Amino acid sequence: MRHASPVPVIATLVILMLTGFAGAGEPAPERQLSRDEMRAVVQFLASDLLEGRAPGTRGGELAEAYLESLFQLLGLQPGQGAGYRQTFALKGFQTHDTEARCGDIALEPGRDYMLAYLRDEARFQFDTEAAFVGFGISAPDYDWDDFKDADVRGKLLFVRVNDPGLFEPARFNGRQMTYFGRWRYKVEEAARRGAAGVLLIHTDATAGYGWDVVRHSWSGEEICLPADLENNLRLRGWITETALRRVLSREGLDLDALCQRSLRPDFRPVPLRNRFILTGRNSFRQFQTSNIIGEIPGRTGRRIVVSAHIDHLGMARTETGDRIYNGAVDNGSAVATMVLVAKRLAERSEPLRHTIAFLACQAEEAGLLGTRYYVDHADTAAIVANLNLESVPVREAARDFHGIGAEHSTLGELLRDVLAAEGLAMTRSFLEEQGFFFRSDQFSFALRGIPAIMLMPGTDYPSGVNHQAEYFRLRYHTVEDAFQPEWELDGVRQAVQVTVRMIEALDRAEEAPVMKPVKVFPITPRKQRID
Ligand SMILES: [Zn+2]
Repeated sequence: MRHASPVPVIATLVILMLTGFAGAGEPAPERQLSRDEMRAVVQFLASDLLEGRAPGTRGGELAEAYLESLFQLLGLQPGQGAGYRQTFALKGFQTHDTEARCGDIALEPGRDYMLAYLRDEARFQFDTEAAFVGFGISAPDYDWDDFKDADVRGKLLFVRVNDPGLFEPARFNGRQMTYFGRWRYKVEEAARRGAAGVLLIHTDATAGYGWDVVRHSWSGEEICLPADLENNLRLRGWITETALRRVLSREGLDLDALCQRSLRPDFRPVPLRNRFILTGRNSFRQFQTSNIIGEIPGRTGRRIVVSAHIDHLGMARTETGDRIYNGAVDNGSAVATMVLVAKRLAERSEPLRHTIAFLACQAEEAGLLGTRYYVDHADTAAIVANLNLESVPVREAARDFHGIGAEHSTLGELLRDVLAAEGLAMTRSFLEEQGFFFRSDQFSFALRGIPAIMLMPGTDYPSGVNHQAEYFRLRYHTVEDAFQPEWELDGVRQAVQVTVRMIEALDRAEEAPVMKPVKVFPITPRKQRID
């Protein structure tokens, strides 16, 4: 690995003679990646045979086996002792045939609410007190605490999504959503406080998407890490604003007035008089899944982790016709990028100082579960940085490049220098406004105080077409995210180049990158390094 054998050197020279150098002024004579090499990985991962690569399915297992095999082929060292697999348990729940009411107001599943019951009970009954808790946020950095001294243990909480900054620009981070606005935070906070359940209040404006999106994404299996179930929270889901309005008006409460009140720092939770009662059936399973980890060993004992998730959404339950979420871009193109970065670094004749770990992670779509498991079981103090790859654009090379989350650590400055040397502008992504930093795997690292960034080609293309915006508008998380033979894949080549340069820059740097002071998400400090 660290010392190239004569065969690859000769092969490299032959290829260089055939293809020429990658570009004028390139410091190292690296060969240009061929379109076939890039296509090989994307096309296979996106094939119908893999059935959308949901964790715990045959397609998901095939994706794991494929990455294991690629890492072996590239000569990467197993990242988990003798093997490449970091196997862990997940639990899946699918809730159906529910009936819900609050007092004498009956609620209709699908129309009024969507939810998952998170316990191994084939039939369940949920009967608790309920309370409206505003945004359900406790964030000392913003001088905000919706809970005050209220005891919400054992209760069902109705929680607004988003944060007060959406309505009051001087609060939180203005219209730019903080992690405290994300629904996952609300669920975590409710669980920390011993609540029995959470129903998120849906409005188009606060969620950023329509009820159909909720209905669609909550109709399948809800997947959790077993550790996330070690609390009282056994119910999570969504309720429409209209349905909650009916429930509250029966209590003599006005939802609009409560929402107004919840914009004030002196807001206190409002208990309901009636109990919330839900019955239903549940199917549940426990299964194993694996992150696939391959490494190029260095000599410092420190690691740069390059990650890309291999899972996607599986098969659609409701749509007719094409039912497979192929996930060619999300995240086939990013996995291809990671594999080709590994290939390029494995071909280097000069060894790097740090170990480079390639993490093909699982269950990202279910809530970054694979990377959460990874950081929970890693010596996080030995991780220099995480470079995450996600939905790499597959058409032309862009003139600009994004580092999503660049502002949270000194990785931002490092990326700026790397991009300048590549002749690329560093721009901010529209995805950041949608909280994308919190929604992909780099966030699991950042939550632990590890400098982390998502690397992604930008939106300024020579043809004038914004391929990235078009993808997110038309194909992201739909069955249309399928492989197209006409893709140039120059975006993948560009992402490989920038990622390799970032790794080299990190490896050369005298000082490890550091986090900047952040308010927009809470950091659980990394473990102290034990030398
Ligand atoms: Zn993704």
